[in-house]
Amino acid sequence: MAPDEPTDAIFARISSQIMKCRRCPLWDGAKQAVPGEGSTCARVMFIGEAPGEQEDSLGRPFVGRAGKVLDSLLGGTGLSREDVFIGNIVKHRPPGNRDPKPDEIQACTPWLEQQINTIRPPLLVPLGRHATRYVLGRIGVEFVKITDISGTVFEGEPFGFPQKIIPALHPAATLHNPLSREHLKEDFKKLGALIRELEKEAAS
Ligand code: URA
Repeated sequence: MAPDEPTDAIFARISSQIMKCRRCPLWDGAKQAVPGEGSTCARVMFIGEAPGEQEDSLGRPFVGRAGKVLDSLLGGTGLSREDVFIGNIVKHRPPGNRDPKPDEIQACTPWLEQQINTIRPPLLVPLGRHATRYVLGRIGVEFVKITDISGTVFEGEPFGFPQKIIPALHPAATLHNPLSREHLKEDFKKLGALIRELEKEAAS
């Protein structure tokens, strides 16, 4: 990497490497990789689990039914998709939308790590237990149920620089469950308050 290479160029290079990735077998059953999208100077990064069918077809993250839930909750925080970055811990769709396996997560997450180190967002929002386990694991935090810790603000240096982390339920897990949807709305209320706090701090 050239020392003064612009962020967008670094990012485009990472994305094109992700598109060709063969580090685990998932690429073989997928139509294409989904590197993630949004602002390369985002202050908030959402981290999902893996692309689903729609994402696999379109090459974009969270464009299916779970994406609609995410978009509407995002609106409530005062941010749009263009303001944030949305990615996943696994970049190729697992067959039949099964959970990603630990070795697939291990093979794929160095890409996310590079993306985080390029964008350097002060706030991470892992969505669901897999993304949350990956991010919180990097600061030595373990949990049993995602519902016990979602909406809680953690602080640490999971990627070598200070960040706040606020896990939320995965939007897909709330599609047929009104109680979970309420829980996710509460998570996003706390996220909105945290974003306003960080904006105030940045402006002062
Ligand atoms: N679910 C995810 O975790 N990621 C996506 O991109 C879409 C659905």
